[in-house]
Amino acid sequence: MINGDEYIRRIKCYSRDMYVMGERVGFDHPNVEPVLKAISITYDLAKEKGYHTYSELVNREVNILNTCCRTPDDLIKRYDFQRELSMRLATCNYRCPGADAINAFMSVLEGDERDRFLGLLREIQENDYACTSALTDPKGDRSRRPSEQREMYVRVVEEREDGIIVEGAKIHQSGAFAADVNFFLPGQTFREGEEEFAVAFALKPEDRGVKYILQNTGMQAKQRDGGEFERGNPYGDRITCTVVLDRVFVPWERVFIYGDLKKVRELLTAFANSHRCVGAACKAGFVDSMTGAASLMIRANGLEKVQALRSKLGEMSAVSEGAYAIAVGAAVKGVEKNGVWLPDAIMANAGKVIGVEGFAKAMRHLADIAGGIPGTAPSEFDLRSEETGRYVEKYVRGAEDFSAEDRLRLIKFIEFWLTSSHYIGALHGGGSVSASVIFLQYMSDFSTKEDAVRKAINLKS
Ligand SMILES: Cc1cc2nc3c(=O)[nH]c(=O)nc-3n(C[C@H](O)[C@H](O)[C@H](O)COP(=O)(O)OP(=O)(O)OC[C@H]3O[C@@H](n4cnc5c(N)ncnc54)[C@H](O)[C@@H]3O)c2cc1C
Repeated sequence: MINGDEYIRRIKCYSRDMYVMGERVGFDHPNVEPVLKAISITYDLAKEKGYHTYSELVNREVNILNTCCRTPDDLIKRYDFQRELSMRLATCNYRCPGADAINAFMSVLEGDERDRFLGLLREIQENDYACTSALTDPKGDRSRRPSEQREMYVRVVEEREDGIIVEGAKIHQSGAFAADVNFFLPGQTFREGEEEFAVAFALKPEDRGVKYILQNTGMQAKQRDGGEFERGNPYGDRITCTVVLDRVFVPWERVFIYGDLKKVRELLTAFANSHRCVGAACKAGFVDSMTGAASLMIRANGLEKVQALRSKLGEMSAVSEGAYAIAVGAAVKGVEKNGVWLPDAIMANAGKVIGVEGFAKAMRHLADIAGGIPGTAPSEFDLRSEETGRYVEKYVRGAEDFSAEDRLRLIKFIEFWLTSSHYIGALHGGGSVSASVIFLQYMSDFSTKEDAVRKAINLKS
């Protein structure tokens, strides 16, 4: 297993078409570099805290994110890793969709396709690659079928003896430009006649025609502003990109599904359940980070004795433990498929819903505790300025034992939590909350619940 610095050195060797605000950029760009820094922690923390497991494929220990989970304990280890990463980074670690794709592929592929996938997985484990994944597509007018707007869907435009040519895009994908391997999976099921879209494959750095157009929100502008702590979080915002596939050649050995509508459905279901469940553990870690910031802000404002504020910390703790407990419960109650241990589907989707509700509640409590200053504070540059520094020093100060600079660092970190793209990511990443609710609406066992009430109150009709 490599360390974080080795991962960064390897990624920086790749030639990638990455764009920020219309200009081609390199890996040192302030909107790109924090993503590398965040991913590097997935390497260092795995070594430091033992988040790895033995792989028979390569006869050695591998990062838990680069293998499929075989037991409930494997899954729980993954959820613990996820929670700790989210708490420490306070941003995305970018590798969990890659791990979900590995688990989903391994649970559904058979025969030649499975052998092909195992070939790539061996390479991933041997080199300790960082993997991400994209559930396509931009989708255009959501009421129209793919065949009515082909260009809005990733599709096979040419079949060759040695592979396929694909075209299309993935809109808003986390950290793809910083990965060694990027899996492409369809984001919906297809009907007969739509086989050209039913394609799942993996991209590697040597593939030509792949372009990454990075997101640009207020937090990215702050990252470009520089300073030591003005952007709030050294690991940056959760950075996504639009991945454009401009006639990209993919060799057959990296095409795992093509034209098989049933396999696409199975793959999508396995991926969605896996990702939504790990998302609950992720939200627990994010809420842990917000709780830490809220607790420090209570101190920085000299309000430790105010019970009304401290009780909010208790509620935040309930939220994070609740979301984490759903993930652990789903792992314990999970099912085995093709040698892969998958979380219980109902609980996984419940984890998504509860995790996002808890995240919103934690943001509200953090904003309440912090006061208005995360939305109004002067900058780090004002603090350093000869003209304004003494005023900022004097008026940004709170409790005696917190310097103005430390309080401002904390304020910027809270501003990051309240104004970055994380809430939108929590809501929609891994599919919207509405998608999970629809799943629960159709798959939950309501009749057993109805029967219980019927019997209890003796209904005859
Ligand atoms: C910060 C962030 C990071 C992300 N990272 C990744 C990543 O790494 N990999 C990845 O694959 N994806 C990623 N995503 C994408 C995410 O999976 C999508 O945002 C999600 O699937 C929702 O799609 P959408 O944003 O296009 O919303 P839309 O499709 O526009 O949906 C908007 C709303 O309309 C509803 N809706 C849409 N279509 C229909 C329909 N036909 N019928 C009924 N209701 C409908 C949805 O349920 C939702 O409530 C990320 C998203 C965000 C915000």
